[in-house]
Amino acid sequence: MAVYDAIILGSGPAGLTAAIYTTRANLKTLVIAGQVAGGQLMITTDVENYPGFPEGVLGPELMELWRKQAERFGADFVDDNATKVDFRHNPMKVWVEGDVYEGRTVIVSTGANAKWLGLESEKRLQGKGVSACSTCDGYFFKTLDVAVVGGGDTAMEESLFLSKLCKTVTIIHRLGEFRASKIMQDRVFKTPNIKVVWDHAVTEVLGEKTVEGVRIKHVKTGATQNLQVQGLFIAIGHTPATELFKGHLELDEKVYIRLHPTGEFLTATSTPGVFAAGDVHDHRYRQAVTAAGYGCMAALDAERWLQVHG
Ligand code: NAP
Repeated sequence: MAVYDAIILGSGPAGLTAAIYTTRANLKTLVIAGQVAGGQLMITTDVENYPGFPEGVLGPELMELWRKQAERFGADFVDDNATKVDFRHNPMKVWVEGDVYEGRTVIVSTGANAKWLGLESEKRLQGKGVSACSTCDGYFFKTLDVAVVGGGDTAMEESLFLSKLCKTVTIIHRLGEFRASKIMQDRVFKTPNIKVVWDHAVTEVLGEKTVEGVRIKHVKTGATQNLQVQGLFIAIGHTPATELFKGHLELDEKVYIRLHPTGEFLTATSTPGVFAAGDVHDHRYRQAVTAAGYGCMAALDAERWLQVHG
């Protein structure tokens, strides 16, 4: 089998943007797109903050267009998950079950997944009032009442963002104190339309077609009550898709890929010829447009790396 110039792992905004750039640079490119191709936008409804779509666009529609654009320039696609990697020698190897593919560079853009509470009602109402991204969906809840679950910096940030749009924001936290940084907590406590319900867990999201409220339970007494809200934002952390790379690439303490930027290659990882793009290394911005930007950078880095290293 021919050796690819670039193997791209993942087919969200970062991976598909990388593929558009590598193929247009004439690099023979393989995208191992994942079993559920398209990334986090596939579970999003309206996307209103991706530039170029004045009326907004549905997440899955955006990803379909993105993929067509990548396919147009001749990238090969495998719609399955990579199951094993070996980056010790160049060309590097990536397996999909029994099939092995070889690449002179690899771009890791496997993304991250929001953590969910794991309730059936939460899943049913995802995109219909349940969200894990206030930047993406907060605007739909303008002047409404919403709740945020979590006690870390993300929950504080989401609540502060929502407080500028929504009538009220209720933070529901399972403990009696936040783990978020003091400065973020202070900002939350000083915001008049944010209130906190301590020591409670969400046990059900209420509503048939859209969110109408949440049932919450006191973690010590077991007493339950219903809160009327039209939106529920889950902010309990993200899990980067890095399991495959343990022992092959350096990860940080939160198991995101640690970049090793050099003067020349800003998206370099700990392994020469392997680059990372998007939410798999970036837990700060986590936007489609920033992931796309990283995908472009990683592709340009891979192209330049091949020029330098042959
Ligand atoms: P995090 O710090 O891990 O906090 C997750 C929160 O969700 C915790 O309060 C945790 O509760 C709660 N939680 C976890 N699982 C839960 C469940 N099943 N049910 C209910 N609650 C649950 O995650 P994060 O807030 O996303 O932050 C991730 C990292 O990014 C942190 O290091 C953070 O400092 C950083 N970050 C920084 C900024 C900033 O500086 N502006 C913004 C965002 C994120 P417990 O407290 O009970 O464990």
